[in-house]
Amino acid sequence: MSMTQTVEDALKKPFGTVYADKMAVARYKDGVWTPFDIQEVKPFEMHPAAHVFHYSSTCFEGLKCHRQVDGSVHVFRLDRHIERFRNSAERLCLPIPDADQVDAMVCELVAECADWAPVFPGSLYVRPTLIGTLPSIGAAAGPSTEALLFVILSPVGDYFSGGLRPLKLLVEEKMRTAPTLGMVKTGGNYAAALYATRKAREKYGTDQVLFAPDGFIQETGAANFLMISEDRIVTKALDPSFLHGVTRDSLLKIGARMGKEIEEREISVDELLTWAKTGECALSGTAAVLGGVGSLVYREETYTVGTGDYGDETAKMRSALVDIQRGKAEDTFGWLKRIS
Ligand SMILES: *Cc1c(COP(=O)(O)O)cnc(C)c1O
Repeated sequence: MSMTQTVEDALKKPFGTVYADKMAVARYKDGVWTPFDIQEVKPFEMHPAAHVFHYSSTCFEGLKCHRQVDGSVHVFRLDRHIERFRNSAERLCLPIPDADQVDAMVCELVAECADWAPVFPGSLYVRPTLIGTLPSIGAAAGPSTEALLFVILSPVGDYFSGGLRPLKLLVEEKMRTAPTLGMVKTGGNYAAALYATRKAREKYGTDQVLFAPDGFIQETGAANFLMISEDRIVTKALDPSFLHGVTRDSLLKIGARMGKEIEEREISVDELLTWAKTGECALSGTAAVLGGVGSLVYREETYTVGTGDYGDETAKMRSALVDIQRGKAEDTFGWLKRIS
């Protein structure tokens, strides 16, 4: 079977369930990182007392490589993702990998696995991960001084393979994501959002929970929140309480260039409900790029957002970003780096 066929088949599977056959691996011990190597993907062997299993010393990144119109493969904003990855490591008291090392691990791995990069609308999802491996359940209050850093790749299709379906969100004022880890891309935040998200799905049929502690919009379990209209984009200003999305940042820069007013500030639930009468709302993140919101559930009432459909301005923003990623529009911001 040809490689192209293998990748084509992978795209028919659920998002993020198929992996390229190689990974990049480096270890940290006795105060130093080993040089990384590229090896076959296979299970790791780890002591059952490894720090990560007990004390959640784990962080990750999610970024994408895109096959361009001319066939070459480019990675999108790798430097920004590496910066965030290192920040996450620091906040979790894990050994901080050198930016150059992570860059080389991603670029050499992708170069070797370039055949795994699907054509548009597919992409090659890149997942760098760092975990604490110190075998010590006694280190409950201390950091892991041993770590494993690896990068795996997953060929993915369009997140919205069934078309751009509008999302339904529950606005939740009481619960929130792990408060001290808001800026850290760590499994703990996902674990913290899971229960609320599942309960909301059962009760209201919602796709995601929009956390709004004390009546102010924060983000969902895995995506940033934006209000979009013909002339404006409004989103929460950066603070340590939530994850600073690279997609969010990219959309704000593209929006500004389109002539939209960019407002980064607090958004109250009241303002959101007023906005929803005419404006559009969307969720941003690397995997789905930009998901349009069709309705909100708040205090047992359902509110339609705009027309209730995936918004026109939202679709326009999504295309503008995707066009840069796939090399259809000029990369004036310098976000792409050629790998293969
Ligand atoms: C990864 C993530 C996002 C989106 O970030 P991008 O860089 O745009 O992919 C938003 N919120 C949380 C909690 C995340 O973990």
